[in-house]
Amino acid sequence: MTRTRTNRRFMEFEPVIGLEIHARIATKTKMFCRCDNVIFDAKPNTHVCEICMGFPGMLPLTNEDAVKKGIKAALALGCEIKEFSRFDRKSYFYPDLPKGFQISQYDRPISENGKIGNGDTKVIRVKRLHLEDDAGKLTHAGNSTLVDFNRAGTPLMEIVSEADMSSVEEASQYARQIQRIVRYVGASDADMEKGMMRFDINVSLRPKGERKFGIRSECKNLNSFRSLERALEYEIARQTEVLKSGGTVIQETLGWDDEKGVTISQRSKEEAADYRYFPEPDIPPLVITKAMVEELRKEIPELPEAKAARYQSQLGLPVNDARQLAESQELAGYFEKALDVSGSAKKTANWILVELVALLNMKGHAISDCKLSPQNLGRLVRLIEEGAITGKIAKEIFAELYEGNLDPEKLIEKKGIKVMGDSGELEKVCKEVVGRNPQSVADFKAGKEKALGALVGQVMAATKSSANPKMVNEILRKLLA
Ligand SMILES: [Zn+2]
Repeated sequence: MTRTRTNRRFMEFEPVIGLEIHARIATKTKMFCRCDNVIFDAKPNTHVCEICMGFPGMLPLTNEDAVKKGIKAALALGCEIKEFSRFDRKSYFYPDLPKGFQISQYDRPISENGKIGNGDTKVIRVKRLHLEDDAGKLTHAGNSTLVDFNRAGTPLMEIVSEADMSSVEEASQYARQIQRIVRYVGASDADMEKGMMRFDINVSLRPKGERKFGIRSECKNLNSFRSLERALEYEIARQTEVLKSGGTVIQETLGWDDEKGVTISQRSKEEAADYRYFPEPDIPPLVITKAMVEELRKEIPELPEAKAARYQSQLGLPVNDARQLAESQELAGYFEKALDVSGSAKKTANWILVELVALLNMKGHAISDCKLSPQNLGRLVRLIEEGAITGKIAKEIFAELYEGNLDPEKLIEKKGIKVMGDSGELEKVCKEVVGRNPQSVADFKAGKEKALGALVGQVMAATKSSANPKMVNEILRKLLA
């Protein structure tokens, strides 16, 4: 015993992490009744009926749209869709569960065996995606507890990973990937501030190099990426401490106290048998034909990872730009429309990710609220590329363009902004600058490239930045040749 203790103290442990992600399916109505599924900010207990309140004798009816969206998410996660699946009752008592059971899928889920990730990101296997309904919500207020049944019966998909992650960062990346994917296919808005996505984590430690899993703890209902990361860090540190001091990790279910930053033991872990799963007798099994699956597969857009890879390989964008643009379908769509007009991928990406994003952040606008059309942004980039205006001027007029969604060509005409093209005018300024700076000229002729930059700077200053720097460069090189 003492020996084990000493050995463990110097042992290196590695975490083994699995995630269960619950995401609210973006439907008009709940999973098994016609109540409104858009419940955020609604007055408590206003979106309820006999079915989602679990009145005796009521018959649930499966929401077809929820099933279709669940299938689309499953396909995007690379899962196989099962031709035959069914719903089960998961029995437990809780005050926010009026039926006394949750309707879920136990041993016959709608989909299994997926994976996400590619060469760039670690491949994480998705064990299954199944459909279920949600419970209501309890609010503890002083000595009493209030219950709101608006959430009871709202449609969920639960995405269960294999325990393939071995660091906080991998788990966090995986969770973010899942969020992007379910949003891309329109299966869930996955808005965590509105409680549309939550995480359960399970963590165990094992000595580095060991293949056998250790005893795991489960931490439930994490509702932000930040709390997911913090809870994982905490659990890894706590279990390391327990193991290093010669103790044993207990298999248990934990809660996360976000304020104190600690996990709290809630109960020892239930086994599946505790839930007395049995087939839901009121709902016919789901039969999904191959034809239905292929129809739905057609509706799946290019997914974020594939899109980012394409932006890199076809458009030559740097990896970070490509990933940022592919982050949401709206942003990627905006970029592609702007690019159609501008013709320059790199410049367009830059203008969107730097200038536009900064302006949107300042105004608190999402890309979906963006006032400037992608076409007008594309026109602006094209004007800069053609040398009709300088980048500096473009930045100066950008806020005005944005506010009025203006055509930049018309605005610069109206403002009388003139760019010195390759007119004699610009050449005249260049000649003057050359004449005034014999030292720089001599330096450049002696092979110092930097000296040219100084001359370009002087020309830009003399023209109040209205000259096209590329053109100034060319003229100066000609004059100095
Ligand atoms: Zn209802």
